[in-house]
Amino acid sequence: MKVWLLGIPYDASSSYLRGAAEAPARIRQALVCASSNLSAEDGTDLGADGRWGDAGDAALSNDRSGYWAVEPACAAILTGEHRLLALGGDHAITYPVVRAHAACHPRLAVLHIDAHPDLYDAFDGDRYSHGSPFARICEERLAARMVQVGIRAATPEQRAQAQRFGVETIEMRQLPLSGSLKFSDPIYLSIDLDGLDPAFAPGVSHPEPGGLGVRDLLGLIQTVEGRVIGADIVELNPARDPQGITAMVAAKIVKELIARMLRDGG
Ligand code: MN
Ligand code: MN
Repeated sequence: MKVWLLGIPYDASSSYLRGAAEAPARIRQALVCASSNLSAEDGTDLGADGRWGDAGDAALSNDRSGYWAVEPACAAILTGEHRLLALGGDHAITYPVVRAHAACHPRLAVLHIDAHPDLYDAFDGDRYSHGSPFARICEERLAARMVQVGIRAATPEQRAQAQRFGVETIEMRQLPLSGSLKFSDPIYLSIDLDGLDPAFAPGVSHPEPGGLGVRDLLGLIQTVEGRVIGADIVELNPARDPQGITAMVAAKIVKELIARMLRDGG
């Protein structure tokens, strides 16, 4: 079993600001920056562990034709026991990345961390906007269960969509949870960095105050009950992250996610 990082330098589905295509390179820089090390909190030494690797960036153009190249790029990695941690890119990439995972896992749970539900049928007329990936995932029944955590900017349309699709929404105002989250199906974990409070992760295109702390998110990654078999980290916008602090947060999440996926094994 090997966990592969795959950069997806794509931001052509962003509705407000471009920039997320530059994120994979910045996250890698932060990951190997000498200011920290490659030890995960559970003691896994990723600097010496041969069970993960970096597959580089998917070769795709940053336009709609590139968007359709995301799924085959992921499918090429997801053979045998290989696992994927995708580095976006804007959140539109999650739909094709989840499609590639659903082809390997007939039953999949999607755990989605975000300030926004991203359930618009279409945003500005675009069905493949970064505001719509979870509508497509639900329509195609790619997830047996979908749980969204950290939501704090749901519009009436998105609330109606959540109800229509049976999405379980854990809004920010309902946190903290009394117990831990539990899943019986393999878990795909999609992390939009704007789920975090902008005080911790300012380098995003849609900062929404009142969000999760880094510690809350790390705790969720470490304690969610079930088996994490795939993940993405999306929406880092380096143009809004002049100090690189959000990239460091993303790199921290990468370390904990790799350790978690290694722990959960095949
Ligand atoms: Mn968001
Ligand atoms: Mn999102």
